[in-house]
Amino acid sequence: MKFASDYIVGVDLGGTNIVSLLINGEGKVVGKDTRATLAQEGKEKTLSQIVNSVRTVLEKGQSQGISSTSIKGVGVGSPGPLDTKKGIIHFAPNLPGWNNVPLVSLLADQLKLPIFLENDANAAALAEWWIGAGKKVDNLVLLTLGTGIGGGIIIGGEVLHGAWDTAAEIGHMIIHEGGLVCGCGKRGCLEAYASATGVIKRTASLIKAGRKTLLRELVHDHLEDITCELVYRAAERGDELSQRIVEETARYLGIGIASLVNILNPEVVILSGGMTAAGDLLFKPVRKYARKYALEAAIRGVRIVPAKLGDNTGALGAAATVLKRKGWI
Ligand SMILES: [Zn+2]
Repeated sequence: MKFASDYIVGVDLGGTNIVSLLINGEGKVVGKDTRATLAQEGKEKTLSQIVNSVRTVLEKGQSQGISSTSIKGVGVGSPGPLDTKKGIIHFAPNLPGWNNVPLVSLLADQLKLPIFLENDANAAALAEWWIGAGKKVDNLVLLTLGTGIGGGIIIGGEVLHGAWDTAAEIGHMIIHEGGLVCGCGKRGCLEAYASATGVIKRTASLIKAGRKTLLRELVHDHLEDITCELVYRAAERGDELSQRIVEETARYLGIGIASLVNILNPEVVILSGGMTAAGDLLFKPVRKYARKYALEAAIRGVRIVPAKLGDNTGALGAAATVLKRKGWI
């Protein structure tokens, strides 16, 4: 950061929530605003929510004596595909009506501040690199394990965007030709197997095939109520079907991570998202399979670790985008 008195805003634009943070140059949070995204009420509504959320954290800053002149910019992390250079969101799957939205210029008009746009998973990777599990490391890969699988890659201390911002679509790495159908319409993507959605689908299909499991009891035969958390809990209690699902999930992740490690030579691989709450139950077999499938020279010394920053990751990464684009970190 240039001056100790400089502050920045980060906005995590999600289909469920909009989270804004006002932070200082060390990542210390001085103001936070969270609001449910009213995506169904249309694009204009969501845009005004973003503006109001940013204004709310700026007001929180003002009440602590932070003047508007010390705000150096606003970073927005958004689902893609998007164009970071032109500041346009081409399409956002969880935000109906968001097609080719020039978000950067729309927000700049209203907020009168420099605005920077970044893909949400890239922003998460940048946050972990800046002050999280990848601190002091030059090369890392981050996988966000949620309803889908997102990815962010930092190489040589810089976010890997590729030619037109579609790099790091790790969830759509094919790990099984002709395999399960993915949300993208193709078959055999990592996401189709190892996302929360994939885990639940694979579990349900084994149960429907007649496998015995404690899970039936845990959800009182309402199979649609099965969650990843329940699968982990049943696995810990010795349920064979759940243990098989966890082991398979770790194997698929290990296969994906092995390829990433072979191609990119990262020092750290960070797993984030709700599924990582399983802890060692998931991490131990993931590390085992990554070692099994990667080249020895590439995997040696790689740390596969949980993310550190929790709920604020997206907004912190969006704020870090401002610092990165200004060349301050
Ligand atoms: Zn896919």
